[in-house]
Amino acid sequence: EYLVEVQDVKKHFKSGANQVVKSVDGISFAIRRGETLGLVGESGSGKSTLGRTIVGLYEATAGQVRFAGKPLTGHTREERRAFDRQAQMIFQDPHASLNPKMKVGDIIAEGIDAYRLARGKARQERIVQLLEKVGLHAEHARRFPHEFSGGQRQRIGIARALAVEPSFIVADEPISALDVSIQAQVVNLLEDLQREEGLTYLFIAHDLHMVQHISNRIGVMYLGKMMELAASDELFREPLHPYTQALMSAIPGADPSQRETRERIVLRGDPPSPLHPPGGCPFHTRCPAARELCASELPAWREVNEDHWVACHLVEG
Ligand code: SF4
Ligand code: MG
Repeated sequence: EYLVEVQDVKKHFKSGANQVVKSVDGISFAIRRGETLGLVGESGSGKSTLGRTIVGLYEATAGQVRFAGKPLTGHTREERRAFDRQAQMIFQDPHASLNPKMKVGDIIAEGIDAYRLARGKARQERIVQLLEKVGLHAEHARRFPHEFSGGQRQRIGIARALAVEPSFIVADEPISALDVSIQAQVVNLLEDLQREEGLTYLFIAHDLHMVQHISNRIGVMYLGKMMELAASDELFREPLHPYTQALMSAIPGADPSQRETRERIVLRGDPPSPLHPPGGCPFHTRCPAARELCASELPAWREVNEDHWVACHLVEG
């Protein structure tokens, strides 16, 4: 049932002589085959780092990622290659992630070449097929990335990811850099491709609004930890964690039926630096509901309703 299982994963980075940034600090959840799991959090919350750790671009400092039941570590070279093909990534800035000196056809074929999936005429046909799949045209293969708009470049990035026929894609803020008018088109494309190719997505964004429609479930991160995870509808209907409630209250018209009862919650201060995360609940310095206990004790990550997980001392269940 689960394609990806993340078990108490940490990813810490050394910073300077003797500092450590705990970008991902003990996260557990799982992604079902064929679902889209949305992942939201402010910049610095560790969501990109978590995404990269799950696709194996980073090695976890502690804990384990399992893909299709197998741990990512301890692979033979062949297994590793097979995994790398299965798990692909789409990036936020398609401009930075596409080599400006390469023709689009060759960019898309990077994986085809690396895994020797096709050569000559078959390779060319595959490139055309991929371009058409993402709404571009055969003649685009001969052009260079700078000749395309932001939305088209994101389509090129998507075609490149699809070229190796992955089963899992981490989309790291794939629409954040695009015009609002283009965002829905890229989301629709990703949804169509998911149906056609049977893909599983981890879809990262900095706000809830962007992941609401595409996600089956949504996880909310803060300072390297997961605060809450639930089905998209349930999270919007009944956010349990004070941080999720604050994010929800900031979405204009997110839920018209509750707009009057749901007051805008303004959080005090900025998120603390990941270099000096507060002890106890990482959210306690900004939480409107914080109690004394919150500053000293880390709340457990618990399933409070079926498939609804939360880390907060005040949530019963
Ligand atoms: Fe707020 Fe305490 Fe819950 Fe953390 S554990 S979210 S500080 S109430
Ligand atoms: Mg990021």
